[in-house]
Amino acid sequence: ANAIWVLGNGQLGAMLAHAGKPLALDVKPIDIMAPPAEQLPMQASDIVTAEREQWPESALSLQLSQHPQFINSSVFGRLADRFTQKSLLDELKVATAPWQLVDDSVSEQTLHQTYGDRVLLKRRTGGYDGRGQHWLKQAEATSIPADWRNEAIAEQAINFDEEVSLVGARTHDGRCVFYPLTLNLHQDGILMASIAPLPRLAAFQAEAEQMLSTIMHGLEYVGVMAMECFRVGDKLLVNELAPRVHNSGHWTQAGCHIDQFQLHLRALADLAVMTPQVNFQCVMVNLIGVDYDARWLSLQNAELFWYDKEVRPGRKVGHLNLSVTEPQLLADSIAKLQQWMPSQYQAPLAWILQHYQ
Ligand code: ATP
Ligand code: MG
Ligand code: MG
Repeated sequence: ANAIWVLGNGQLGAMLAHAGKPLALDVKPIDIMAPPAEQLPMQASDIVTAEREQWPESALSLQLSQHPQFINSSVFGRLADRFTQKSLLDELKVATAPWQLVDDSVSEQTLHQTYGDRVLLKRRTGGYDGRGQHWLKQAEATSIPADWRNEAIAEQAINFDEEVSLVGARTHDGRCVFYPLTLNLHQDGILMASIAPLPRLAAFQAEAEQMLSTIMHGLEYVGVMAMECFRVGDKLLVNELAPRVHNSGHWTQAGCHIDQFQLHLRALADLAVMTPQVNFQCVMVNLIGVDYDARWLSLQNAELFWYDKEVRPGRKVGHLNLSVTEPQLLADSIAKLQQWMPSQYQAPLAWILQHYQ
């Protein structure tokens, strides 16, 4: 390939470009909303990928998405709509949280009858970081927002033990490779921290790989895909899929000899793809709505990725990857973060420590 164009230029696009450098891959993230001075200088042998699930129509997004080498072009629309995504999981018989479309025939009452006291409504499109969700609670007599009809699905509230995700990749010739499962902590719908690998999760690895293989083969997908799951006892239920590099795979930048960004590029460009070797156990802490703090750089085992975005409450502005070469080093870093980070970080930091006791 001459160039790999990326539809979207957020942090995922930036990290894809960064990962392409040592492979001499010319990765070009594109701000699709930029006023197009002219058409992008794309060639027939170039490759196009996306770092987002959905995009508004613009001159640039059309040029990118209509390129004949837009890999997985048919997948994005299908996964970007929760109705078609959940339908796909059902068709492939991959376990997922019980659900239905909120069409004209359903009422709050029928939803509570089917799913119980708590029902989670999710907008079909556009939701991320827990936005576009609405809890129906029988006890509080909450109702379906009028403009959510046919625009949302209803899901059973899953009383999960924990949340895990699997990041894997499929090659052009249909081979799949995977990272070890990642343990994730979400707070108010947004990923706060991840730990991987975790020895006790190895028991779920084969089942998770089976599920994601089925999905990637079913879609004839090429590149990196992430599968978010709920662990309920000894079962995994898929929460949602992301046809791209994923926040819960950021730890691979510090932990693996091929990180998820390079793995995606290798798969797209039809370069050698092998199972990534894990060098370190890692902890990833998302930096959300916090100002840049140069003290982070003084943490012995931390790698900072700062996205250089305007800081706003609830916005992901960076992440820290802490490699766990010795538990004491991690404990020291977490103790410092407990002093430096705002109150909403205390629970996630305690959660991290809890997994090393
Ligand atoms: P992302 O930023 O990961 O794309 P999202 O906005 O698309 O998030 P989900 O991943 O569907 O939304 O949900 C966000 C979080 O809300 C989940 O990680 C989980 O903590 C919680 N959640 C989602 N669905 C359910 C459910 N059916 N039962 C209980 N909790 C749920
Ligand atoms: Mg999502
Ligand atoms: Mg999610």
